[in-house]
Amino acid sequence: MRKIVLATHNPHKVEEFQAIVAETRPDLQVVAYDGPEPVEDGVTFAENALIKARAAAAHTGLPALADDSGICVDVLGGAPGVFSAYWAGHAKDAAANLTLLLDQLSDVRDPHRTAQFVSTIALVVPGDASRESVVEGVWPGRLAAAASGGGGFGYDPIFVPDGQEPDAERTVGEWTAHEKNAASHRSRAFRSLVPLLETL
Ligand code: IMP
Repeated sequence: MRKIVLATHNPHKVEEFQAIVAETRPDLQVVAYDGPEPVEDGVTFAENALIKARAAAAHTGLPALADDSGICVDVLGGAPGVFSAYWAGHAKDAAANLTLLLDQLSDVRDPHRTAQFVSTIALVVPGDASRESVVEGVWPGRLAAAASGGGGFGYDPIFVPDGQEPDAERTVGEWTAHEKNAASHRSRAFRSLVPLLETL
C-alpha cells in the first residue's frame, strides 16, 4: 500500500483524514507525522499548509499532506481564521477559544452570525519542487448562541452547517463522525485533491 504522511499532531485531524481517505482512496495509507514541528509563521491557510507539508516531506521522504484550517466569521472580517487554534491565547485551549468567540458575538443576532469552516490542504512530493499543490474546501453555516454536543473537536459544538431542516438543526458537535466526514470543509478540500493523487 502506498504511504502518505499527514503533517499534523492533532489526533482528531488524523482520524478524520484516515476516514476520508479510506472512502475515496483506500489504496493509500495515511500515517501521522511525528517529526519536528516547523514554526507556522504564515499569515494565510495556504502558507501554513505548505510550511507543514514541506517539513514532513523533507523529514520522511514520503509524499506529505497538511491541512491548515479554521473558522472564519463574517462579522469579524474572517477572524479567527488562521488564528483559530489560539484565539484565546497560545495555550491552544479549545474550550477557551470557543467561549471567547461566543462572548464576542453575544450581541450579534442570528441572521448576522454567518461563518465558514475553511480547510486548505497542501500536497508536497519530496524531491520534486514542481509537485506542490494547494486546494481549499469551504463549509458554510452560522454560529449557534451556545455550545451543544460532545462530538468532533474545536469549534464543532457551536457550528451549525447550512442545508439542514430549519426545525431540526444541530451543531457539528451533535453530528456523527460519519456525517461530518461526508460534508466537512476537510472532506471537500480532499475531494478536490483526489485527481492530483492519481500519479503518486
Ligand atoms: P491548525 O491545526 O493550525 O490548522 O488549526 C486549526 C484550528 O481551527 C483548530 O485548532 C480548531 O480550533 C479550528 N478547526 C479547524 N477545523 C476544525 C473542525 O473541523 N472542527 C472544529 N474546529 C476546527
